[in-house]
Amino acid sequence: MDKGSAWEKYTEKDIEKLNNICNDYKKFLTVAKTEREATKEIIRRAEEKGYKNLEDYIKNNIKITPGDKIYVNNKGKAVALFHIGTRPVTEGMNILGAHIDSPRIDLKANAIYESDGFAYFDTHYYGGIKKYQWVTLPLAIHGVVIKKDGTKIDLNIGEEESDPVIGITDLLPHLAGEQMKQEASKIIEGEKLDPIIGNKPLATEEKESVKNNILLLLKEKYNIVEEDFHSAEIELVPAGSAKDFGLDRSMIISYGQDDRACAYTSLEAFLEIDQTEKTLSCILVDKEEIGSVGATGMQSHFFDNAIAEICLLMGESSPVAVRRVLNHSKMLSSDVNATYDPLYKSAMDKRNASQFTRGVVYCKYTGSRGKSGSNDANAEYIAELRKVMDDANVSFQLSELGKVDMGGGGTIAYMLAKYNMDVIDCGVGVLSMHAPWEVTSKADIYEAYRGYIAFLKNI
Ligand code: MN
Ligand code: MN
Repeated sequence: MDKGSAWEKYTEKDIEKLNNICNDYKKFLTVAKTEREATKEIIRRAEEKGYKNLEDYIKNNIKITPGDKIYVNNKGKAVALFHIGTRPVTEGMNILGAHIDSPRIDLKANAIYESDGFAYFDTHYYGGIKKYQWVTLPLAIHGVVIKKDGTKIDLNIGEEESDPVIGITDLLPHLAGEQMKQEASKIIEGEKLDPIIGNKPLATEEKESVKNNILLLLKEKYNIVEEDFHSAEIELVPAGSAKDFGLDRSMIISYGQDDRACAYTSLEAFLEIDQTEKTLSCILVDKEEIGSVGATGMQSHFFDNAIAEICLLMGESSPVAVRRVLNHSKMLSSDVNATYDPLYKSAMDKRNASQFTRGVVYCKYTGSRGKSGSNDANAEYIAELRKVMDDANVSFQLSELGKVDMGGGGTIAYMLAKYNMDVIDCGVGVLSMHAPWEVTSKADIYEAYRGYIAFLKNI
């Protein structure tokens, strides 16, 4: 059911607000390319709005009261924000949850080698990618190296105009007859996703002198030795900033819009709220692209642990307090949706696919093969959301991810639904999802932001 393009309803004032949000979104995309960088930027923005670290409350046994604004930093790779309401927290929270990791190429622990005069990084990709898309692109190096004494060295090479970049080669078409006969999944194999990082030997004649030259440079410039890569998290991402897309500047192209399109809009909607009756929360987590595993993924207990600490400091000492909070909460799992692409009609059921400019996308079912692995949002909850969105004049649409039996995907929704809260997927449509450069509609970014505000205020 097509309710028309969101652009059609905008006044001049709306367009001004939309442009402000989208310009700030592009800045966020450019400074927050990894989960660590996103965490840092999210906490910077939250602190600016008066949010305080839960650790300080715990350490100093400070009572938590309505109006308090609190953040939890989980190992520098995930964040939970809480805005305490005037009503009892056990009546449940309104929760927005997005992820801040994106598909990329990671370094292995034994990270550097030399082959025939070239120095390379040895890599293992992260998340679901079409590997052939990641060759012949300028790549930037983002991440941390932790020295044995605990010293942390932040790396960010390739984003400044004067920075060098690295990249992965591909075979020229003239000699690629055999390669082009391969299935697309085999054209570029995982072990071939190694970027060249150097080609200049040390002046002294020794074995692996190109690699040794790189090591010398790393030592001199960053105080990093080869073994330090054992305790490092280095991510290779497309170099360059987010940009307007289309001659009419109606869209945005950037790396990592799955899921920063929803992480950014959720965060900004959340920080926008001045006062609240219900307690609000915004979760921005890591590892969604590989199953939400690990201490910083949504399957970790860091979120309910934080709620337990908050309950205790609020004097909610009942052993079932945390369960009540979660049981009565309502959530939007803010994650992106695959938008209808006219060049790939056969993968989508147009009537049930999300469309650019039609607003924020709700998805009752994710999963695959007969909804396996899906979170199924209750019709009652969807009806409630329909009313809230309509009352706030938010453009929204209902969709599924592609045609039946075409494939599928999941989000963090079912992990929160496990607590018996109402959860539905709700996010921004994306073209070329999981490609190095993904595209979104500015109108959909704006409608997601507006929709999240309506949810936080009115559910
Ligand atoms: Mn996602
Ligand atoms: Mn994804």
